[in-house]
Amino acid sequence: MNYFVVDRGDDISLRLTEQFHQLAKGYGMVLDGTKPDIVLSIGGDGTMLHAFHRFRHLLEHTAFVGIHTGRLGFYADWTPDELEELAQLMYHQTTESRMQIVEYPLVEITFTTAEGMESYLALNEFTLRGIAETMVAQLNINDEMFEMFRGDGICISTPSGSTAYNKALNGALIHPSLEALQIAEIASINNRVFRTLGSPMILPKHHSCDIYPQTKKKVLLSVDHLYLQRDDVLSIRCKVSPDQKVKFARFRPFPFWSRVQKAFIGMDYK
Ligand code: NAP
Ligand code: MN
Repeated sequence: MNYFVVDRGDDISLRLTEQFHQLAKGYGMVLDGTKPDIVLSIGGDGTMLHAFHRFRHLLEHTAFVGIHTGRLGFYADWTPDELEELAQLMYHQTTESRMQIVEYPLVEITFTTAEGMESYLALNEFTLRGIAETMVAQLNINDEMFEMFRGDGICISTPSGSTAYNKALNGALIHPSLEALQIAEIASINNRVFRTLGSPMILPKHHSCDIYPQTKKKVLLSVDHLYLQRDDVLSIRCKVSPDQKVKFARFRPFPFWSRVQKAFIGMDYK
């Protein structure tokens, strides 16, 4: 079994990485940054975003697992004191070919510029925001004009990203077994002249959302933790990726709703 570790770079994460290499060596696992079977992320959910983008060309092959060195994460759901148990389960379940994999849907984003097209893949979300002025953008759903958006911006999230930025925008939490994307508004302007839907919308697979920025000035585009300032993007197509998903190795069950409960409510009811 080949593995790789992506860590946050802080002292605790670095120490755990070192410990994991030792444990892995004992089990005969091979460190491999080229085509790892498993990528272990040590840090936070942000670290998992880095790990995902670093290995996004290997999504067919590689499964991810995360240890959190801060608060409980959604992608990083193992604690540091479970490191040994994780290494042990990893070794046994991979050698006995009984590793459980869950697959989460991703959002595919395609920019059209005068030069051509560029594709991105989001694990959490894509956002489009104005920088120095109100963002004005036409929104089409399934190739039909839907609305002219005016406000701070638009956030298009995956189900597993629904607990991140989308949640701060009052979007719904979506179970990652649902192949869908969610469109949430960021401070839309609504009055007698300007009108947007005002509520988050959930689109199924095969539906698409096209955004046409109306300004000639730069806009801020983000894909997960990656930020770009551009003035050359003519349109952006967002849809649930038709053929790509992210694989997470589930060495033990930890249901999504339990993670939601532990992360946001956190009380143990007696
Ligand atoms: P960051 O500013 O460190 O992340 C913001 C927070 O979002 C961190 O606490 C991070 O957890 C958490 N987070 C990331 N993915 C999550 C998920 N799927 N579910 C629940 N929480 C999640 O930046 P970053 O670590 O590079 O992460 C980038 C992400 O930050 C973006 O994808 C966006 O979702 C999120 N963000 C949120 C807001 C907001 O809520 N208002 C604004 C901007 C960006 P860790 O501490 O474990 O990394
Ligand atoms: Mn972070």
